[in-house]
Amino acid sequence: MTTAVPKIRVVVLGSSKVGKSAVTVRYLTKRYIGEYCSSMDYFYRHYVEFDTVRTEIEILDTSDCEKKGCLYEHIRWGEAFAIVYAVNDRHSFHEAQEILNQLTKLKLPSYYTSLLLGNKKDLDHCREVCVDDGHELSLKYSCQFYEVSAAENFAGVSLAFQSLLRESRSVQLLK
Ligand code: GDP
Ligand code: MG
Repeated sequence: MTTAVPKIRVVVLGSSKVGKSAVTVRYLTKRYIGEYCSSMDYFYRHYVEFDTVRTEIEILDTSDCEKKGCLYEHIRWGEAFAIVYAVNDRHSFHEAQEILNQLTKLKLPSYYTSLLLGNKKDLDHCREVCVDDGHELSLKYSCQFYEVSAAENFAGVSLAFQSLLRESRSVQLLK
């Protein structure tokens, strides 16, 4: 008898140009590639091991889903969510808050896990969102929170994704 490999469906959401594709590719390949087509969704399949259990990860790196009207569909599809904003873009922080709000409305009462990711930490000199604001928002929506720089630091991005996936895996085991 073959045992099914557990699967986690991850959706990366947020305003345009905040670095959703950059953080996703950084996590998956350790590399930082500066430019991506911002109007395309990208889909990846990847495997990780949690406590010796091989787990399949599907990652949907979205683009402009609020404008395209597919936010609802993406939220329904996923079970773990990385909501990205850029620390030098206040508007993207408000949009992250709006997405967290939509997530709560559409997902509860079912289980889901979420991560608020303040990207472009390297642009500290033109920061528009302070760490405390990010932290406060994450407490309000009970999600994990990290500030990262896809451009300068692989370790931070990797740690953030791993925490999201680990929590999601624990939630699956409790079901
Ligand atoms: P998306 O539209 O949210 O997927 O954003 P992209 O990943 O395409 O990135 C948008 C722009 O921000 C690109 O020019 C990237 O090079 C840049 N970018 C992404 N992450 C970082 C980062 O951590 N720091 C800086 N300075 N620029 C970044
Ligand atoms: Mg993109």
